[in-house]
Amino acid sequence: MIFEGLSEKLQNTFKKLKGKGKLSEKDVKSAMREVKLALLEADVNYKVVKDFTKKVTERTVGHGVLESLTPGQQVIKIVNEELTELMGNTQSKITFSSKPPTVIMLVGLQGAGKTTTGGKLGGQLKKLGKRPVLVACDVYRPAAIKQLQVVGEKLDIPVFSMGDKMSPVNIAKAGIEHAKKYGNDVVIIDTAGRLHIDEKLMNELKDIKTEVTPHEIMLVVDAMTGQDAVNVAKAFDSELGLEGIILTKLDGDTRGGAALSVRAVTGKPIKYIGVGEKLTDLEPFYPDRLASRILGMGDVLSLIEKAQASFDEKKLKNLENKIKTQDFNLEDFLDQLEQMKNMGPLSSILEMMPGMNNKQLKNLNVDEKELVHIEAIIQSMTAEERKNPNIIKGSRRKRIAKGSGTSVQAVNKLLKQFQQTKKMMKQMAGMEKGLKKGGKFK
Ligand code: GDP
Repeated sequence: MIFEGLSEKLQNTFKKLKGKGKLSEKDVKSAMREVKLALLEADVNYKVVKDFTKKVTERTVGHGVLESLTPGQQVIKIVNEELTELMGNTQSKITFSSKPPTVIMLVGLQGAGKTTTGGKLGGQLKKLGKRPVLVACDVYRPAAIKQLQVVGEKLDIPVFSMGDKMSPVNIAKAGIEHAKKYGNDVVIIDTAGRLHIDEKLMNELKDIKTEVTPHEIMLVVDAMTGQDAVNVAKAFDSELGLEGIILTKLDGDTRGGAALSVRAVTGKPIKYIGVGEKLTDLEPFYPDRLASRILGMGDVLSLIEKAQASFDEKKLKNLENKIKTQDFNLEDFLDQLEQMKNMGPLSSILEMMPGMNNKQLKNLNVDEKELVHIEAIIQSMTAEERKNPNIIKGSRRKRIAKGSGTSVQAVNKLLKQFQQTKKMMKQMAGMEKGLKKGGKFK
């Protein structure tokens, strides 16, 4: 899980605060000592940590917070706000040029994920209705051009390349001309990386910058390298001037130091985060949502967006009607489960739910296999039984258990889950009716 260690430590600290009806200055100071340690262990930049805890303490002590009715909650609220601020407050988007094509130049060290991210970004922009082209300017790493072509093919995005004999500057220029000619409104330039920052690399990147004046130079940097990532960002920014940062491999980053310090140290925003190896695993970066996730408050907005992206619109509408008419049967239940599977592993969905802390997630021990069993059970029912589960009594239950290779207990459990879901839907429909009549939630 992202930021697992930090999240757990902060939540433990705040649990202690919340448990107290009254807070003293000493309580806050001792909590801030714990926060400081937790952030340092997460590999957050020392100065950033010092400023952060100082700010939170200042806003807490002597401002009526401790005298309020819920001092613990107030402190958490302040920490949430300051974490959000640390990461840049609001979402930073790509600025598209009014005179297309918008040229985005991706830079970074070798292995940071530039080529993959170029493809992922192209895929996202395509979904937004743009017509991106990927330009292969990494002429040094063997197979880099081929890799970009493979990525482009998978996403059905054109790739412009001129082999590895031309200079990157000329390829970039020709790529932009190509885009103009064929109506591509975004050009994503994949540049070469090195194992370390060196002068030759920087000079080459500067040459491309001078010749094509990209609208956005974005650094792709590996989150798992913690403070090294921050130092790389500092160096690239001072040499080239960055518009933004794409932090990759956040899925494998249990500490979070780079995500929490890079904006404060460089002043440059994180625009996207890479959260996996699949070409869809790139997300816009929302500081507020990440702060809430770290503090175990969930990320309902991302959850809804994920659901919208994975659920079939027609089916969703259909489901809504069924909820209204209370005509929800086991076929719909199965349908709903299948759509949920599209959203990714259950554990990553639950991670976004408010109130789910690490321990609860572990205790839940979400078993993806259970979903497979549920599917098998429903598929072993007759059409009649799926439409009208009330007729599933003793002998039918036995037959279904046998047919699905499960047990009668498993069938019973599923039927119970279904009844509960149905009951919940009835309540939801009731609430909606109440609202329509002009009533309020009581
Ligand atoms: P480049 O040398 O900077 O072009 O790096 P590549 O695009 O070749 O990526 C290096 C490796 O990192 C590849 O195996 C990618 O699949 C992997 N990678 C890139 N982004 C992510 C990410 O967000 N999460 C994970 N888990 N792997 C990533």
